[in-house]
This record gives sequence, structure tokens and C-alpha cells, in this order.
Amino acid sequence: MIKVLVIGGGFAGCCATHLLSDMGYSVTLVEKGSLLGGGCRTFFYGGHPYTYGPRHFLTKDEKLFDFLNKYVPMRRIPDHEFLTYIERDPGFYNFPIHRDDIDLMPDRDQILSELNQLDEDKVQSAKNLEEFWLLSVGSTLYSKFVESYSKKMWKIESNTELTEFSFTTKGVALKTGATKAAWTEAISAFPVKINGYDDYFDISTEKAEVHLNTTIEAYDIENYSVKINGEWFKYDIIINTISPDIVLNNVFGELRWIGREFFKIVLPVPEVLPPKIYFLYYANDEPFTRIVEYKKFYNYEASSTLIGLEIPSLKNKLYPYPTTKDRELAKKYLDILPDRVFSIGRAGSYRYLDIAPIIQQCMELVSQLKE
Ligand SMILES: Cc1cc2nc3c(=O)[nH]c(=O)nc-3n(C[C@H](O)[C@H](O)[C@H](O)COP(=O)(O)OP(=O)(O)OC[C@H]3O[C@@H](n4cnc5c(N)ncnc54)[C@H](O)[C@@H]3O)c2cc1C
Repeated sequence: MIKVLVIGGGFAGCCATHLLSDMGYSVTLVEKGSLLGGGCRTFFYGGHPYTYGPRHFLTKDEKLFDFLNKYVPMRRIPDHEFLTYIERDPGFYNFPIHRDDIDLMPDRDQILSELNQLDEDKVQSAKNLEEFWLLSVGSTLYSKFVESYSKKMWKIESNTELTEFSFTTKGVALKTGATKAAWTEAISAFPVKINGYDDYFDISTEKAEVHLNTTIEAYDIENYSVKINGEWFKYDIIINTISPDIVLNNVFGELRWIGREFFKIVLPVPEVLPPKIYFLYYANDEPFTRIVEYKKFYNYEASSTLIGLEIPSLKNKLYPYPTTKDRELAKKYLDILPDRVFSIGRAGSYRYLDIAPIIQQCMELVSQLKE
């Protein structure tokens, strides 16, 4: 029987384990924490369910939605909207930036004059995040919505450092039209059950040998071997979902990451954000980037509400840096992986991947192995 090692038990590790176990492979999953699910695990605070960050499911691909929905029944939430607080106006505006909101801004005339001078054709030539936004919306909107947010998000001095990115994570720089919903084309959904995605982490690993609270002591990836509790084990296939520099013994130096500190606040009101608002971004010099009202995702009923607040931090590895230098270093690692060693998931790929593309990656991996 083909022996597979999966390193890391987050969404990527669990999904890979699931699909490879179904192919009849013998899968061993090693997770350093005490629970499976990584960042998508549901925890509880004063009865309130929450994850670290929003973790709602987004995809344009029905196939990926159907896949997950089969194991974790999902509720579609098509109409949620994002707001950004702009302290200097002061005001709350839609994000992505909406054309109608410009009429509410004190510097409306200046913004409109800048928008009139833009040349859409030049946007494609942008070489970094700052250039992209200046060319897309002009300097006033850039400085209100993007400049400080991005600098605090990545802990950088200048947004010109960010060179490799889908420069608008929300798909569009300036929105027009009647809908203010954040996602008009994608399916937006969240699990129905109070424990979120957690059932999937059990279902996906039921045929596998799972080692929780386990750290690999040494890696010899070239020989498909790892050392656990003093003993070497050899596999036919290795699926890595953690930062590739770790499994390749840092031979080219450490990859850079940004993480998050996460704070929970319970407030004595049934709901604090307006009905369609699930997230609120803070675009200026507040130390935090975003707050999330969790009961809206979970449909949780209580007389109080839980807010999660995220502060950029170097304490954990959650967001790979979108710069040419960092991506090239990651590529050096990924390029030296031997055949039958795959590095997937957000950390494993060193790419800003969400849940749906991670499931897609696991499906592609299986197709590749079947060839
Ligand atoms: C704050 C935040 C909010 C997000 N919100 C959304 C969202 O709303 N929608 C969406 O689609 N996506 C969202 N994402 C992205 C998505 O949740 C992640 O891309 C996805 O969960 C990553 O899964 P993963 O398995 O690659 O990584 P992780 O979930 O990070 O799992 C990695 C696992 O590996 C384990 N591990 C680490 N080191 C080792 C080691 N040395 N040995 C063994 N195990 C190890 C960890 O404990 C963890 O369990 C968000 C991401 C963040 C950071």
C-alpha cells in the first residue's frame, strides 16, 4: 500500500488526507497542535462560536461549494457588505470603494477631479500596489482607503514594496451600480452548524492515522523521511502544508510571514453592526485592521455579541509577503522539492490562498497522482 505523510492538519492537510485516503492510500497526518482544522477551527468564548478571523467560504465554482456542502451543510449569505471606517472624514464607507459614497465625502470635488484625470489603460502597467491604486482611484482615495491599511497590514514603510499581488483582493478598485454587496459573482457561504467546519476535520481524517501534539524533529525530504520521537519513518509520498523553508531545513534562509494577534470582546447588546455588515475595516492608524461580528456568520442567538479584533503581528505565520523577493525565495524552495513531494495550502504554497482554492489544489493533486 502506498504510504503518505501529510504535514499539518489545517484545511489543506485534512482535505489532502481525505482525498488520498479515498484513493486507498495509507495516510499519516502529523499536526503539532492539539486539534485539527488550523485557522478554520471553531472555538467558543462565553458560549459564542468564533474562528481566528472570518473564514467564510467564497468561490465562483459550484463544484467546490458542492464538495464542502456534502460534508458540512453550508448556508449561503449572498448579501453581506463590508464597511471601512475613515477617521479623517469621519465616516463609514463601503469597501470595495463605491462610486456613490464619493458624494458623501467632504473632499468629493478633489476626488472627482482626480478620477477624471485617470487613464484606465495605464492601470495594467502598475508595478506595485501603490502604483496600482494611484492609477485606479487617484491619490485622495488611495490615501483614505489603502495607504495606511496596507502599511499596517504588512508592517512596511512603503506600499511600493508590494509587487506581487492581485492588487484588489475584493476584485475591483472602484465599484458602481446598485448593489453594495461585497461579493456579487462569488458564492458566499458559511457552515450551518454551530461548530462551523469542524465536522469536516473528523470526516476527512477518519481513515487516516492522526498524530496530534506531534512535532517532526528532523526532515530528510530528499529521502522521503522524517524523524518523529527519535525514530526515522520513510514514505512514498509527502504532502507538506507548512512553510517550505522548515521542511527543507532553511537551506536558503527563512521565509518572511505576517501574522495576527486576535482579541475577543463580548458586548452587552444582541447585535452591534448594521444588519448586512459582518466585517468592519479600519483603514487608518488604528492598531487593528478589522473587526468581525461572529454571530452573523454562525446565526448564533444570544443577548450579547462577540467581536473579534485582528492586529498584525510577527508572532505567527499567516500571510506570505507579496513581494518579488519573498516569492522568489519561496520558489527556490518549491523548485527543489523532489517528485512525489507536494507543498500545498497557504503556507505550503507561500500564496494568499483561501479555503476554496485550497480544496481545488487538493483535487488537482489527486488528479495528478491518478495520471
Ligand atoms: C485571519 C485570517 C482570516 C481568513 N479568512 C478567510 C475567509 O474569510 N475565507 C477564506 O476562504 N479564507 C480565509 N482565510 C484563509 C484560509 O482560512 C486559509 O488559507 C486556510 O485555512 C489555510 O489552510 P492551511 O491548511 O493551508 O493552513 P492552516 O489553517 O494554517 O493550517 C496549518 C496547520 O499546520 C499546523 N502546523 C504548523 N506547523 C507545523 C509543524 N511544524 N508540524 C506539524 N503541524 C504544523 C498548524 O498547527 C495548523 O493546524 C483567512 C486566513 C486568515 C489568516
